[in-house]
Amino acid sequence: MFAPFYAAIADISATIRRHRDRLGRPVIGVLPAYFPLELIHAAGGYPVQLWGAGVAIDHAEAYLQPYCCSVARSVLELEMRGSAGLIQAYVFTSLCDTLINLRELYRRLFDKPILGLSFPVTQFAEGRRAFLADAAEKIIKGLEAVTGRRVSADALRAAAGQFGRVRSLQRELYRLRRERPGAIKNADFHAVLKAGFFLPVDEYGRLLEDLLVRLESIAAPAGRRPRLILSGMVFDPLEAQRLFDEVGADVVDDDFASGWRTVSKATLPVDDPVEGIATHVFGGAPCCCIHHPEKDRHDYLVKKIRDAGADGVVFWYVKFCEPDAFDRPQLLARLKQEGIPATVLEMDLSMKSVESLRTRIQAFCEMIGGLEI
Ligand code: SF4
Repeated sequence: MFAPFYAAIADISATIRRHRDRLGRPVIGVLPAYFPLELIHAAGGYPVQLWGAGVAIDHAEAYLQPYCCSVARSVLELEMRGSAGLIQAYVFTSLCDTLINLRELYRRLFDKPILGLSFPVTQFAEGRRAFLADAAEKIIKGLEAVTGRRVSADALRAAAGQFGRVRSLQRELYRLRRERPGAIKNADFHAVLKAGFFLPVDEYGRLLEDLLVRLESIAAPAGRRPRLILSGMVFDPLEAQRLFDEVGADVVDDDFASGWRTVSKATLPVDDPVEGIATHVFGGAPCCCIHHPEKDRHDYLVKKIRDAGADGVVFWYVKFCEPDAFDRPQLLARLKQEGIPATVLEMDLSMKSVESLRTRIQAFCEMIGGLEI
């Protein structure tokens, strides 16, 4: 039942090309995260989300040092080696310093439209709104220039409905995973999420609906295995996610920017686009990259763990993401205070083997107990 999702990510270029030709929409690459994809769709574009790739870094080395995050390095590598020819334009958010600098690099290096949506760092909703009023107008105009189509109120409403529906289906999948630990393999779960980065919203929504019907009667396996929550920016590499299945641990929830932090966002409000973008960016689960004084990541994570009945947390650190690294010491300290076991796994998206992670995961699961060995 997961085959269509694996097929979509087996050859990502082929998937994008097929749907681009079917839809006749220009492909717009979105550098993560939290850009309202609804705007691109409403402007007649085909958004694909670029959360990094497992490629060897060769060309990008000339511009990004080894201590830049592997999301930025690998995405730049794809464009530099000519593997991103399907992408007609890029949209960047200002999630972190790396992305802001990467956006400027793209502007200098490549002959493609490069759009940016900067997120305000302010304590107050009013300040956010004032800042975004200008930013929203610019981004919508930029998208319209790329696609040659106006973002009409009807198109935006329809797009909000489609993307909102997809996220609500994804939340349903999350609920099943939480309530029936082990019923959905961890690798399969993440293949479903990853396919959503590249499939158009109509196709992906259909596949999700079909999957959820098939999963309705699925039961959790007997017995209790270690239950984990994963936290980080990016859930890749997918091969590493498979290790939890092989070791015999159940991931019951996550706090990934490419996972729940995005999936948790409500349907985009469209009556006022500025308000809509602000709600989208600052709504949903808290993130290390979004300054939101009313959202405490520590309380949030502890509650998530308790709600899911998890035994421990694995911090999934894709090197060298600064915002993720900056938050972690305080989060670890809070988990320690609460008596919740936690460990940190460091990885690179272009790592050749994930076997070293297997030993770490196994050791952590043995430590928290319940592993059948
Ligand atoms: S992984 Fe971290 S450092 Fe890299 S682009 Fe994302 S937020 Fe920025």
